[in-house]
Amino acid sequence: MKFYLISTPIGNIEDISLRALKTLENLDILLCEDTRQTKKLLTLLNIENVPKLLRCDEYTEEKLKEKVLNWIKEGKKVGLVSDAGTPLISDPGYRLVSFLKENKVEIIPVPGPSAFLVALLKSAYPCDKFAFLGFFPRKSGKLRSLLEKYLPLNITLIFYESPYRIEKTLKLLSEILKDRKIGIARELTKLHEEFIEGSPLELLDYLKKENKLKGEFVILIPKEKEK
Ligand code: SAM
Repeated sequence: MKFYLISTPIGNIEDISLRALKTLENLDILLCEDTRQTKKLLTLLNIENVPKLLRCDEYTEEKLKEKVLNWIKEGKKVGLVSDAGTPLISDPGYRLVSFLKENKVEIIPVPGPSAFLVALLKSAYPCDKFAFLGFFPRKSGKLRSLLEKYLPLNITLIFYESPYRIEKTLKLLSEILKDRKIGIARELTKLHEEFIEGSPLELLDYLKKENKLKGEFVILIPKEKEK
């Protein structure tokens, strides 16, 4: 009994792996965050044998658990993708896979891109030790205590941020980090991919001036240079 977790591109369609293509072709049922988004992806990838697409998001995941287990027991091939990148990484699926694992289903990851790793490579920051901390907490108190905990580790810290919150987050970071330089990886693997560095306020000024407070962002805080 197996369940497939398939990574998909985060912008550049050519980042799909041969194994992902083969797996997608052979599935009976594909769980996805947004069926329209995944349908578009399967069309772009020229998948001929389109599996049945079913929505699996934070609302439906719990209800689907038993059904998915039964389908797998019946011999159906079932997998999960997210809208982009690696499922479960700041995306739905964790509760489902932990339930399937408890029920003796083998989890088969079909690896591929994930924005935090692409951002780490783009930054050229130390990658021997790093922490990926998902999206910044929404509440400023929680963000502060998270940074108080992780900054002393002096390793590269990586966060996701949405275009709707980037301005607020950079302002908060400037209160905490002052003039310390951080990095932003934007629109990775896409036409306007870029990596910019500066203090949080310098970066906010740049993004505003260039009308770039849109798109997808990964924020990185490098470790402090040894004195
Ligand atoms: N599961 C995905 C992964 O493996 O990277 C992440 C999903 S999470 C809901 C979406 C966040 O990932 C975005 O808000 C952004 O922070 C980051 N992200 C996704 N694609 C990106 C890209 N092409 N460039 C920069 N950041 C990206």
